[in-house]
Amino acid sequence: MIRQFELVERVRSYDPTANEDILNRGYVFAMKAHGAQKRASGDPYFSHPLEVAGILTNYKLDADTIITALLHDTIEDTDVTHADIEEQFGPQVARLVDGVTKLTRIEFQSDQAKQAENFRKFVLAMSEDIRVLLVKLADRLHNMRTLHFIKRPEKRHRIAIETMDIYAPLAERIGMQEMKQELEDLAFAEINPDARQSILKRLDFLRSKGEDLIDKIIAEMLGLLADNGISAEISGREKTPYSMWKKMQKNEVGFEQLSDIMAFRVIVDNVEDCYKTLGVAHSAYPVVPGRFKDYISTSKPNGYQSLHTGVFGPERHRIELQIRTREMHQVAEHGVAAHWNYKQGGPSADGPQYRWLRELLDILEHAAGPEDFLEHTKLEMFQDQVFCFTPRGDLINLPLGATPVDFAYAVHSEVGDRCVGAKINGRMMPLRTQLRNGDQVEIVTSKAQTPSPTWERFVVTGKARARIRRFVRLQERDEYEKLGRSILARAFKDEGYEIAEKALKDVLTVFQQPTVADLCAQVGAGHLTARAVVEAVYPGLKSKLDKDRNVVSLAQARKRQPRGPADLDPDAVSIKGLIPGMAMHMAGCCHPLPGDRIVGIVTTGRGVTVHTIDCESLESYAEEPDRWIDLSWDLKDVPADLHVGRITLSVLNAPGSLGDLSTVIAKNNGNISNLKITHRSTDFFDMLIDVEVHDVKHLTDIIAALRATPSINSVERARG
Ligand code: MN
Repeated sequence: MIRQFELVERVRSYDPTANEDILNRGYVFAMKAHGAQKRASGDPYFSHPLEVAGILTNYKLDADTIITALLHDTIEDTDVTHADIEEQFGPQVARLVDGVTKLTRIEFQSDQAKQAENFRKFVLAMSEDIRVLLVKLADRLHNMRTLHFIKRPEKRHRIAIETMDIYAPLAERIGMQEMKQELEDLAFAEINPDARQSILKRLDFLRSKGEDLIDKIIAEMLGLLADNGISAEISGREKTPYSMWKKMQKNEVGFEQLSDIMAFRVIVDNVEDCYKTLGVAHSAYPVVPGRFKDYISTSKPNGYQSLHTGVFGPERHRIELQIRTREMHQVAEHGVAAHWNYKQGGPSADGPQYRWLRELLDILEHAAGPEDFLEHTKLEMFQDQVFCFTPRGDLINLPLGATPVDFAYAVHSEVGDRCVGAKINGRMMPLRTQLRNGDQVEIVTSKAQTPSPTWERFVVTGKARARIRRFVRLQERDEYEKLGRSILARAFKDEGYEIAEKALKDVLTVFQQPTVADLCAQVGAGHLTARAVVEAVYPGLKSKLDKDRNVVSLAQARKRQPRGPADLDPDAVSIKGLIPGMAMHMAGCCHPLPGDRIVGIVTTGRGVTVHTIDCESLESYAEEPDRWIDLSWDLKDVPADLHVGRITLSVLNAPGSLGDLSTVIAKNNGNISNLKITHRSTDFFDMLIDVEVHDVKHLTDIIAALRATPSINSVERARG
């Protein structure tokens, strides 16, 4: 048992200003309160709060926390009241003891609903002051260390499960790595003693084989660093049986050599030395691929910082290195507690260690019911989420698989609607990239941007999906309406009439449409033909139309198409303003490009498919003139988007000819998006290439450049 003066000395060793008198009074007060009570071990009960206080001195916590630890069971287990404590130790300590008592009273029952409700209370109780949780964790740690004294196996089991499910994840969440590992391992010993035993045996065996190996590795590493002017401390650390068990369950490792169970910690003076050390290790030894992680530039959500890497180190032993500064090491081991020591009097409420708590509270407030809340919290607590940061350091947590678009919508709907790109950890990345824990995400926005229908395919959050869908639906309707109006105007004009709003209104009932806009949208979407509307307005036309339009040759249909750009043919529907992908689709057969002469084919429910005027597949629509509409590009305002142009080539079957081909295309700022070899002989390859280009001129330039290349035999644009 820690003696009174020892405890006081421990606190004074890290906080010389601590009030000795009040610590002494706390010790005596708790000892008297518990009196003759005994623990399951037969020890006086007071040994327990004392040990808890002792654990917390290792974290250099302030005197109030230490006194709270001493008193933590008095309200629950003795006659002492809140008022007594407040009178003796002030409101601060009384409030803290109250908080711990509340946590203690919450039992996690097997009943799901109750468990959730209790967890809610639990979070609320600890959210007032994180020190309440620190004391509770130390309390649980000591109870776990003495768990074997409890006689009833069911009770031991329940406590162990609770520790594994609730307390260890909580400790991890606030960055208390040491605490988490010990809690887990003690619980593991109770829950699965056989598995733990066999791992321990294996550990013993590996340890006996490599006794001097660790010292050798450390010595060689130290020498290497010294040669490079870096002073460092290196220690070998064994992984815990539970963490190895978890890895075995995931089938990650088999533990064949000592290096499977050891990690080496390199502690250096400053951040610069961290990266230098990394450089030295990577240049001296072969690197194990996939092991490098930079948690210094982007710390983990719980504040953890380090560089991780794996190398085939001294004598080709595979080793794991964790490189960090002393301060980082403090945080790595002690997490929140490292911030909450006597020196600072606690972190600011804005520190990253607090945000998760606020998020948790937020979920609490908005969860539909206790079960819903449980899903968000218990057990995997945060395993199905990723934590990312804004450039300002604000935490955004998202479900697993979330993309920058989800991130943008989580920041603000406007940001989502306007996002055009994303920098992840400083690098421009595609919007569909799946975010990972700790990513820093900067969203690039443009006022001209609107949500893209393609986003719907990769977003995972409900908020993003709902916004995109709503926008796409509105936009689509808008496009269909515009398109429908143009088609109708043209159809009326063909018969020598001007289109009139009033005339359309009069026939709304015929088509069961509430408004003229709806009627136009129906025509635009291809659900109604323009001809049907014209006939409804002018019933007498029907027979005349039938006679005129019965047979139209393809040549005739083609002749109807405009010969020049939009400004020369005011009747044609202009592609400007109609976004391809909604009411308009570019045909996959001929891949029309801005500048091509084009024609639209109305497809029921899908709007208009755009073909080049010489596309072979137009033959099949020759007898349905109603489905043809005149289209033109508005070349005054060519959108910056890229379009796919398709070309067929015949290339010399010789070394380097494919290289020539891609070089020529790249030099002309084209991007190959697809390549297929359609035929191959001893002399030539025939192939089909899709190239992303701005317009038909761009593609023509590329084709000309390819034709000038000696290794390329022939180049044609693909037609249908
Ligand atoms: Mn206790």
